[in-house]
Order: sequence, then C-alpha cells, then structure tokens
Amino acid sequence: MKHLTSLQGSCTLVGAGPGDPDLLTLKAVKAIGAATVLLVDDLVNDEILSHARPDARIVHVGKRGGCKSTPQAFIEKLMITAVREGEHVVRLKGGDPFIFGRGGEEVEHLREAGIEAQVVNGITSGLAAVTALHVPLTHRDRAQGVVFVTGHAKTGQSSTEQPTDWRKLAAAARDARLTLVIYMGVSGAAHIQHGLLAGLPGDTPVAVVQDASLPTQRHVLSNLERMHEALSESGMGSPAIIVVGDVLRGMAAVQTERQQEVRALG
Ligand code: SAH
Repeated sequence: MKHLTSLQGSCTLVGAGPGDPDLLTLKAVKAIGAATVLLVDDLVNDEILSHARPDARIVHVGKRGGCKSTPQAFIEKLMITAVREGEHVVRLKGGDPFIFGRGGEEVEHLREAGIEAQVVNGITSGLAAVTALHVPLTHRDRAQGVVFVTGHAKTGQSSTEQPTDWRKLAAAARDARLTLVIYMGVSGAAHIQHGLLAGLPGDTPVAVVQDASLPTQRHVLSNLERMHEALSESGMGSPAIIVVGDVLRGMAAVQTERQQEVRALG
C-alpha cells in the first residue's frame, strides 16, 4: 500500500535545451533531481540524466536507434497513470517543451485528466543554432523580428494540420524584415527553397546548423538560390535548423574575407 503523502503526484514538462548540458536552467536541474519517473524524448542528451536520482525510473520514449517512437497517446497515458500513483513525473523534452514538442497537447490532455502540469522552459534549438553562428536573431538594421516555423512537410497527421505556405511566409519575411528559423526542414529543403524563392531574392543568406551546442556541431553557409545544393553537398542531416535572412549578412562577409585570406596565403 502506498504511503498517503506519496499519493500527491506531480507532472512537470521540462525543456532539456538543445544538447549542451550546461544550457539547462537551474529550475530544470531541480525538477529532474526531484523526479521519481522521467519520460525522456529523442534528442535529449543522456548526460542530462546524471541529474536524476539514482532510484528514478527512466523511460526513453524516443525513436532513436531505429526503434519506433512510443505513440503520443501511450506516453500521455503513462504520465497520467504515474501521477495518479503518486509519482513525481518529469517529461524531458528537447529544446523548449512548447516549441514543436507537442507540449501544448500534453498539457491539455493532462488538464482534461484533472492534472495541472508545470512547465520549465528550455533553450530552444533555433536560438542555440543562430547563436552558434555568432549572429543575432534580430538586428536594428537587418531584422525586426523572428519566425519559428516547422518545415515538416507531412500532412494528415491531424485533421487540422496545414502545410506551411512558404510563398506567403517569404513575402512576409521580405516586407516585415523577419529572420526565418526553420525546424525539421532538412528533408523538405528543396520544397522550402522553391517556395521561399517566390518571395525572397536568391542571394538571401541561408545557414544550416546541425547538432547546435554539441561537440558535433557543424554548419553550412549558402544563399537561397543554392540552399538545397549546398545542403546536399555538405552531407548534413537531422537534427538541423535552417536560418534564412539578412542577419546572416555580416557572417557571410566575414566568411568571404576569410576565404580570400586563405586564398591569398595559399
Ligand atoms: N522542442 C524542440 C524542437 C523539437 S522538433 C526545441 O525547442 O528545440 C525537432 C527539431 O528541432 C529537429 O528536427 C531540428 O530541426 C531541431 N533541433 C533539435 N535539436 C537540435 C540541435 N541540437 N541542433 C539543430 N537542430 C535541432
């Protein structure tokens, strides 16, 4: 029989950040350390689990290693059951739980079950990716705002999901001077490029950053005209962020200078 006080379970959605364990918030570390059950997503760095109690139950619900990912409904059921059993559940999600992580759906379903989940922000990978390039997301002369958008082309996952209208987005980015930060865009890069070229000039700078904040981090710098080609040539794959916009211009200039320097030296 469970002790009475242990019946007051809890659930916290915790952002694990982009990968570097040092980018966790103190609040995340505290929540992980207090958890009795951890449900861990794909793209969460294993090193982060060193903050968990040795007796905590750790359940990997991602699809790495070729296994199928655990269905969302099953994960939510697991969370609800564990909370009702008095467990302190931490749902560890890559980046920020509320940016393309289905955190919103989880909070809603928990609420329907009478459980009010807490949410701890994490540094979203889009932020980390742009910072990795030493460029700002906004710049008084180059970008007045930022759009975080999914490049995931798949439709029909849910009845209300609509594919992104890249042409309209490109026009908005041009008119309002916005930086585009595209998540899950690598496999649909050719389609995204085609749509964006309808509204943005071909020389608009593009960067793709893989494994942002990790020792394996790499990036490729190009422009919209050559984006897909450059991406294929680089051999880069998921997880990666595509950044489009004039905030990259400073960086492009620095790179060109460096290439010229290298050529001059060589
Ligand atoms: N909630 C997460 C995003 C989940 S969607 C966040 O806030 O970051 C998964 C996508 O995030 C990947 O397809 C990729 O586009 C991006 N991503 C996650 N980690 C990344 C990393 N370390 N470097 C580059 N992109 C990453």
